[in-house]
Amino acid sequence: MLATMAENETLDYENVYKKSAKRFMHKEYLLLGGGPINCSDRVLKAISMQTLNPLSVDMHQLMDEIKEMTQYLFQTKNRLTLVSQTSGSGGNETIITNLLDRGDKLVIAIGGTWGERVLDMALRYEYDVLPLTKPPGEVYTLEELENAVKSHKAKLLFVTHGESTGGILQKLEGLGPMCHKYGCLLGVDAVVSIAVDPLFVDRWEIDAVNAGTQKAIGAPPGMCLLTFSPRAEQRMREKKMKPPYYFDMLRQGIYFDCFGDHTRMFHYTFSSNMLSAVREALAQICEEGLLEIWARHKRNVEYFWKRLDEIGYTCFVKKRENRFHGVTGVNVPEGISQRELIKFAKDKYDIEIAPGFGPTLNKAMRLGLMGTNSRPEMADYLIEALKDGLQHLKK
Ligand code: PMP
Repeated sequence: MLATMAENETLDYENVYKKSAKRFMHKEYLLLGGGPINCSDRVLKAISMQTLNPLSVDMHQLMDEIKEMTQYLFQTKNRLTLVSQTSGSGGNETIITNLLDRGDKLVIAIGGTWGERVLDMALRYEYDVLPLTKPPGEVYTLEELENAVKSHKAKLLFVTHGESTGGILQKLEGLGPMCHKYGCLLGVDAVVSIAVDPLFVDRWEIDAVNAGTQKAIGAPPGMCLLTFSPRAEQRMREKKMKPPYYFDMLRQGIYFDCFGDHTRMFHYTFSSNMLSAVREALAQICEEGLLEIWARHKRNVEYFWKRLDEIGYTCFVKKRENRFHGVTGVNVPEGISQRELIKFAKDKYDIEIAPGFGPTLNKAMRLGLMGTNSRPEMADYLIEALKDGLQHLKK
């Protein structure tokens, strides 16, 4: 009991010491679920570089390089483009809180768990939300979203591009100009779709985008990449309520020298090790080129779907045109336990598969071929594990 401890006594030391003496080690697995994915050796090496002072010129150079490569990644000239030290969820929260005041009208096109979570966030900030829903496997038409924006007089339409829980891809073309017709901004969760399916921020007139570092980008989790259009920036400057301090993009934008005043006023201490990992992962993206990356993901996942069909598995999303090319929902065959199949793939093949979540809960597993793992031989290996699992576990 703490209350009875003598002044020079501490909490149990023996047990803690014994635990720490046995270092945590685990086997290496292929991460073929909804993300994170495996980091390349280059990225792992980059994260172990010397930690930098957050005000040093080296740090500024790291930030500038990330900013420029992120503009390429997003296909944008937006000056307010940066990396933030919060995971994908924090990126979504950053978008809504930087663009809305309490009571402002927001339409959320929910496509699975991630949209539902944005709804949860939006209710906490007391926005006036119109949540839209669709049956699993279905996506929204431009007309449906236009009707919602118009009738709700929305100031922001929030859409999830790739949904890793339901395996769908929401088309974004046309949404930006439609929103702008009604004085509405368009915010997009591209946490998992980035560097998998095409995304053109400027061409498609998207006002705010959030991308995760841990999916096809191939850096560790915990950071996100963000960009805001000049329209979005103007909204930030005009709105009445300040966003949460940590997520304040106008403050963070100064630190990233987005506005050209060169003060680089410190916002909070960024992990230079994480930034270094993100820089290296982005460099690998730039070296391969987006056109090749998008084509590679499409080619390999289509090959995977064909092979799934051959071994008797079916996809959760029936319409091929609605399917996301990064994560596929795969129905668990009758007579098989999802838990056992996932365990089998892990124990025998060293593959980590994600169980169903949200729309796929208790229905389908989530299999991801993203980033470095989007390769034909990886698809073949996964197929081998699934086929073997089917034979072994079928009752
Ligand atoms: N949105 C989407 C589409 C995602 O796939 C995820 C993560 N799986 C998130 C948001 C949340 O990101 P994080 O777990 O990094 O907070």
